[in-house]
Amino acid sequence: MSSADLFTKTKPHKFWRAVPEVDWASWKWQLQNRIDSVAKLRSVLESDPPPNESIESIIQEIEKTESKFNFSITPYYFSLIDFSSPVCPIRRQALPSSEENIELSYELRDFPKEDQMMPVPGLTHRYPDRAMLYTTHHCAMYCRFCTRKRKVSNPSTALQQQQIQNAIDHIAKTPHLREIVLSGGDVFSFGDDGLDKLLKRTRAIEHVEIVRLGTRNLVTLPFRATVELMGIFENYLPLYIHTHFNHPKECSLEAFEACRRLRDAGCVVNNHTVILKGINDDESTLKELNRRLLQMGAQPYYMYHCDLTFGSSHFRTMIADDIELVHKLHGDTKWDTDANVPHYMVDTPGGGKIELV
Ligand SMILES: *Cc1c(COP(=O)(O)O)cnc(C)c1O
Ligand code: SF4
Repeated sequence: MSSADLFTKTKPHKFWRAVPEVDWASWKWQLQNRIDSVAKLRSVLESDPPPNESIESIIQEIEKTESKFNFSITPYYFSLIDFSSPVCPIRRQALPSSEENIELSYELRDFPKEDQMMPVPGLTHRYPDRAMLYTTHHCAMYCRFCTRKRKVSNPSTALQQQQIQNAIDHIAKTPHLREIVLSGGDVFSFGDDGLDKLLKRTRAIEHVEIVRLGTRNLVTLPFRATVELMGIFENYLPLYIHTHFNHPKECSLEAFEACRRLRDAGCVVNNHTVILKGINDDESTLKELNRRLLQMGAQPYYMYHCDLTFGSSHFRTMIADDIELVHKLHGDTKWDTDANVPHYMVDTPGGGKIELV
């Protein structure tokens, strides 16, 4: 049996059933046809009304949400939503909720204090040998729990070309920076030429040994991993792709194929998961997720506690509960391999990530 047989092709939502396959599988088409307004959402929902809810109540919920953080959902990711359940884990990651209006006194705008640890704009240097470059503030989808929503989705905060060049110059002048994380937003939001240029400039620095790319495109826009893009990546190996699957439902045939193309091109695929209340904070979901990741050839890497980002309290679990969950995962997978259990990490303001066991 091929491992592809373990995955199911995503059936487009009724609204897009007549769209030709070449368009549906085109990342550009997917980006152009995103749901990013209530008007668009309304027409999509009207094509196939949810069984247990009125369209009006879904729209009202979004209209109640103060617009601090854009919403935008690819037709592909939207098609993974099960509208017969108001708590569908895909839906909760994608559709705004008025709970985002709740801001607690201890929540922060810039929770990990990334913006205070910038030797030059857009480059966070928090650990001795590694730095993270925020290249773009665009994402295929805006995840409702996003840690960087203070700036992500707002193009006016993104780096200008000159600033990216300054950040790269800074890396070139800092010989102990061995490892660079190209992040965002979502670095795959750059076009092919943009990514090629960015990788060329980063790889040209002699002391940069490892380059990582942070993207959620494998989850929200798997069609982005095109043959053309793989042809570019092959020139800059080794490349570590850090992606962000949170739920086994996201592990579709399309996602599998994106991972396979990246692996075939010689990239290593690692996954970060955020533990989110009511989405994946239970033993069976996380076990299933980790099993699916391994089937896709994506290594479970980190499992994060949800940051104290403003307006995310409805997603946040208790650290003590997370630890209990991690114990359960370890308990079971001892039978085969510990590779199934990612490290459990908690980010701290200013102190960096801490592993808790
Ligand atoms: C997470 C992070 C890294 C990479 O850390 P690893 O533990 O090596 O995955 C680098 N820089 C910043 C600012 C980070 O937040
Ligand atoms: S893809 Fe990443 S940066 Fe973009 S909204 Fe989602 S979590 Fe935030």
